[in-house]
Amino acid sequence: MNETLDVLIVGGGLVGASLAIALDASGLAVALAEAVPPRVDLQPSYDERNLALARASVNALEALGVLDAASPATPIRRIHVSRRGDFGAARLDAAELGLPAFGAVIPARELGNALLRRLDACTRLVRIAPAQAVAIEANADAVRVELRSGDSTRSVRTRLLVGADGSESFVRSALGIDVQRHDYRQSAIVTAVTVDKPLDGLAYERFTDSGPVALLPLGERRAGLVLSVPTEQAEGVAALDDAAFIAFVHERFGWRAGRFTRPGRRKPYPLARVLADRTSAARSVLIGNAAQTVHPLGAQGFNLGLRDALVLAELLREAQSSGADPGADALLARHVERRADDRAATTAFSDELVRLTGSDFLPLRIARSLGLHALDRIAPLKRGFALRGMGFRGDTPAAGLSR
Ligand SMILES: Cc1cc2nc3c(=O)[nH]c(=O)nc-3n(C[C@H](O)[C@H](O)[C@H](O)COP(=O)(O)OP(=O)(O)OC[C@H]3O[C@@H](n4cnc5c(N)ncnc54)[C@H](O)[C@@H]3O)c2cc1C
Repeated sequence: MNETLDVLIVGGGLVGASLAIALDASGLAVALAEAVPPRVDLQPSYDERNLALARASVNALEALGVLDAASPATPIRRIHVSRRGDFGAARLDAAELGLPAFGAVIPARELGNALLRRLDACTRLVRIAPAQAVAIEANADAVRVELRSGDSTRSVRTRLLVGADGSESFVRSALGIDVQRHDYRQSAIVTAVTVDKPLDGLAYERFTDSGPVALLPLGERRAGLVLSVPTEQAEGVAALDDAAFIAFVHERFGWRAGRFTRPGRRKPYPLARVLADRTSAARSVLIGNAAQTVHPLGAQGFNLGLRDALVLAELLREAQSSGADPGADALLARHVERRADDRAATTAFSDELVRLTGSDFLPLRIARSLGLHALDRIAPLKRGFALRGMGFRGDTPAAGLSR
């Protein structure tokens, strides 16, 4: 590849792959470099975690041809939010708000499969994998990126470099961008269980003093489970035998969703918030987890990263049709500006949710109970909460994101 690319995306995870697909028909010369070979079992985030996708994200992934009616995604039609020991509970019903669903749940492995299939169908996109970015040098008219594959390295020039290489982004550190890191000292244990009565589109979020539990509908009889525990307990809880693990979950979650059986493999993820000090540099931009990694409690990480990618795709298509430079400072400034509110609000939302739901300070508990209580009764509040949860926030591109 001797010519200069318009766009090089480093990182073919959930967000980088989505951006590559969104740009395939743009007329731009785009390449996607991914450190591991294109196989679901090798890609780090195409794993057992169950992703709650906001409705805006489902719409966008359908518009991109990644998901369709046959995809293994289960709609979330109702949400039940409660806290052990507090009297309030909030029940949200999509039908009451005149909506078919709030969003959908899909195992990350299945979304990974769908992304890889859709990448295979891209006609103009150049895919380079396995290829790990190991050096970056920015000049006035292009960025030179060195990609290593086994023992060989090659050099690629691009007018715009997109860092979509996850929480520990190499691109971010090579650009000299610092991060603010916060360790929540919690780990999420992710698995699936069989439920004896169908959830029928009902998702539960239950907060307890020792951490939140989310139960997500997965087809007829399975449910995705996300259990937060203090990090020092995580390995021990994940290693419990099936019966002891189920007893632990019931102790936390209660019995409102019936009896759980047949837990799948348990995988702990240490939880940290990682926020890049800035999301652009000369001819370079960060998106997805490379720009911000948030606590998964609010189920916002991929939804937020997808919006980073969709706004960037829209700006790049506009630049292409007007003959503008895809790496121009003005375009990057526009991306930063258009993403700022959503980034700040979603990060704060995920963080506040952790702080508020974890606290045992009495006034906060009462406010929290009243908050849930009020949420359950006041229609406009519910609508606002539901719309934010569905991913309709900030300045999102029109394509595929209509309400
Ligand atoms: C337990 C858990 C549950 C979650 N649940 C939800 C949810 O319900 N809803 C939601 O929206 N989000 C959720 N998330 C968050 C979501 O998984 C992330 O936001 C999302 O994976 C970020 O995607 P990404 O593409 O930015 O980064 P990643 O998925 O981490 O992908 C980065 C990619 O870059 C590649 N890479 C790294 N370094 C290099 C390099 N030097 N050169 C080339 N390639 C490189 C990696 O191999 C990888 O494929 C959850 C996260 C966790 C941990």
